[in-house]
Amino acid sequence: MPQYDYDLFVIGGGSGGVRAARVSAARGKRVAIAEEYRFGGTCVIRGCVPKKLFVYASQFAEHFQDAAGYGWTVPQASFDWPTLIRNKDKEIARLESAYRSGVERAGGATIHSRARLIDRHTVLIENENRRVSADQIVIATGGRANPHAALPGHEHCILSNEAFHLEALPKSIAIAGGGYIAVEFANIFHGLGVETTLVYRGREILSRFDADLRRGVHEAMEAKGIRIICHEVFERVEKLSDGGLAAYLCNGEALAVDQVMLALGRMPNTENLGLEAAGVELGKLGEVLVDDYSRTSVDNIWALGDVTNRVQLTPVAIHEAMCFVETAFGSNPTKPDFETIPTAVFSQPEIGTVGLAEEDAARRYDELEIYRASFRPMRHTLAGRDEKMMMKLVVDAASRVVVGAHILGPDAGEMAQLLGIAVKARLTKDDFDRTMALHPTAAEELVTMYRPTYRVKAGEKLAAA
Ligand SMILES: Cc1cc2nc3c(=O)[nH]c(=O)nc-3n(C[C@H](O)[C@H](O)[C@H](O)COP(=O)(O)OP(=O)(O)OC[C@H]3O[C@@H](n4cnc5c(N)ncnc54)[C@H](O)[C@@H]3O)c2cc1C
Repeated sequence: MPQYDYDLFVIGGGSGGVRAARVSAARGKRVAIAEEYRFGGTCVIRGCVPKKLFVYASQFAEHFQDAAGYGWTVPQASFDWPTLIRNKDKEIARLESAYRSGVERAGGATIHSRARLIDRHTVLIENENRRVSADQIVIATGGRANPHAALPGHEHCILSNEAFHLEALPKSIAIAGGGYIAVEFANIFHGLGVETTLVYRGREILSRFDADLRRGVHEAMEAKGIRIICHEVFERVEKLSDGGLAAYLCNGEALAVDQVMLALGRMPNTENLGLEAAGVELGKLGEVLVDDYSRTSVDNIWALGDVTNRVQLTPVAIHEAMCFVETAFGSNPTKPDFETIPTAVFSQPEIGTVGLAEEDAARRYDELEIYRASFRPMRHTLAGRDEKMMMKLVVDAASRVVVGAHILGPDAGEMAQLLGIAVKARLTKDDFDRTMALHPTAAEELVTMYRPTYRVKAGEKLAAA
């Protein structure tokens, strides 16, 4: 067997790459990982973490309003964007250093450079113009926001990366897209006092989520004052002489705004990586093609996380990395399991969901029982807030297994994480019914919906028997 500089070389220091490097190093493998920008990757530097911090920041306006009903007098509140950015950056720098030092403490080498393949066992570290060899190589280079280069004036628009570093908070923004990133940023900007318009080409925002969630969050966002325009796209964006922007829709309407953000999907980072030279096959969207074990068409090169365009979520990239380590170094071939992934949209109100949407379940099962409750959560009562919370269980009528659980409202993401265990374990509605309620909580509704709201048979909605 040839002698290589490393047992494993990882290209990309994001969620998946860092986990693969750290755990392999902790197993005694000789590991190096190259990151061209900042360790932690999209999630830590310009994704999940700063996004969630922005969500928290944007929720205070409503908290201050709600406080009055509970007897508090809150003086006129004001918001300072530079303070938020500064504090967010400090926290991100702390996490970045923890990601890097985690690999180093496990015995791995961290390299601050872009890297690319020369052949199936050789990597070029570009900053140092140095070549190293490795027995196994992992491609974990993630993805980037689609810049929508075909849109005239796209150069005047920002993507999610820039949204984390704007010098000043705009007074108004138009956001293109209907996926979770577009919806979350619409709520963030609105909550911080920005006049916000969301423009989505489809019939309803958040495709692939349960229809009740999609409708519910759409209505709630509009009730808060976010303008949502569906069935529309930007035709062009122009810079105005006063420094503002005009975003023209195909219907002829022009939105005069300070900022336009494009949130139109993400693309895998596979350009100029030397993948073709090494013989690694790519798919139509430029994603690295992998088998069930994350192995590429070259048997010592693996790919995981967003670059494979399977499921673009941090815990999935981490899970794929853990499976890779088991397969490559643990003599225990392990396939990542993509069934029943709990997920959240940090919109306001929040979405938490796991398992099948009603529409998907109706295609898979002959008959469903749908349990649905819509109510005003207790915390909104004294606050005088009308916003409703929605909970929904989708049950296969034949087996009684709960195949989908969907929540819209405060802390929905936290609930979906725990419901994920029940749905993954294929617990039945009877198990839910047997579970004692925890009172007073919103979540108790999940175990107290005794009668189906309606049934769905062969795709047809029927009254509950
Ligand atoms: C705005 C936003 C919000 C999100 N919110 C959530 C959320 O709430 N929950 C969730 O689960 N997921 C969320 N995601 C998705 C999540 O961030 C990704 O799924 C996750 O980061 C993927 O991890 P990864 O390791 O595949 O890639 P990444 O984390 O993208 O890491 C790839 C790394 O590779 C580096 N790199 C690329 N090319 C090279 C090269 N040639 N040499 C060296 N380094 C290179 C990049 O700089 C990057 O650091 C969000 C994403 C965005 C953009």
